[in-house]
Amino acid sequence: MPGSFAPGHQPDGNSVIFQGPNGVVLVDTGRHKDHVAAIEQALAERNGRLVAIVNTHWHLDHVSGNLALKAAHPGVRVYASNAIDGALTGFLADSAKSARAYLATEKVGPDQRAEIEGDLATFDRGTELKPDVVIGRSQEFRLAGRRLRVELARPAATAGDVWLYDPATRVVVAGDLVTLPAPFLDTACPEGWQHALDSVAATPFVTLIPGHGAPMTRGGFDAYRTAFAGFVGCAAGKDSPETCADRWVAATASLITPADAPAGRRMAIYYVGLLRGGSAARYCVA
Ligand SMILES: [Zn+2]
Repeated sequence: MPGSFAPGHQPDGNSVIFQGPNGVVLVDTGRHKDHVAAIEQALAERNGRLVAIVNTHWHLDHVSGNLALKAAHPGVRVYASNAIDGALTGFLADSAKSARAYLATEKVGPDQRAEIEGDLATFDRGTELKPDVVIGRSQEFRLAGRRLRVELARPAATAGDVWLYDPATRVVVAGDLVTLPAPFLDTACPEGWQHALDSVAATPFVTLIPGHGAPMTRGGFDAYRTAFAGFVGCAAGKDSPETCADRWVAATASLITPADAPAGRRMAIYYVGLLRGGSAARYCVA
């Protein structure tokens, strides 16, 4: 189920279903009601029992749907790293505080207000987002009767990112280790993220499903990994944010549609500023 990134709205991450002999495994649950409805539709078409949700990381565009799906599918077990524990008292708590202050200014349009209030409602039930099974190391799981390699990268895009490799189909589900039109570096340790991309590259996958954007081939992933390294290197150097962003857009031209390139460039400029402000030092702590 492809995630959305509509103008004026927060994103939904991609969701992926693995059908097994004993049910269905779902990777990531999106943010908005429409995305959860698309997941429910896909589950209904497969007529399979939802037995496991794997969250690649705690960002709200990947876990918010857990609440509705857990209510609708009693007995489903959630698998994730424990990085959400730190986020609930750190990044998410800080975001909720500033969101409430922003709403109080009353300069907020109805659409934006609904977006923010939706996230706040999710945050208020944050402890319900925690996993039933904590993924504390890379390991193989048998879920719904399927063998899946579940890899833990920490720190990467968050303090604990999970990505999956399915040997039967040679598919990698990368979560936000691969995001387009730009890497979402808000809570990232770029160096750890690069190590994680090296681990993905060492896997014999044929198709990679990113956290945001269209599925890609190995060639596409190689282009992304090279672009990512170039971008992090540029941000660590002295070139202007615009120059780094232009290079990012050029290096990912085969992966981003021309329509998405301006948004990718804008985000890349923003993330150069974030990295130069010292965010990596804050998040490069395992
Ligand atoms: Zn995401």
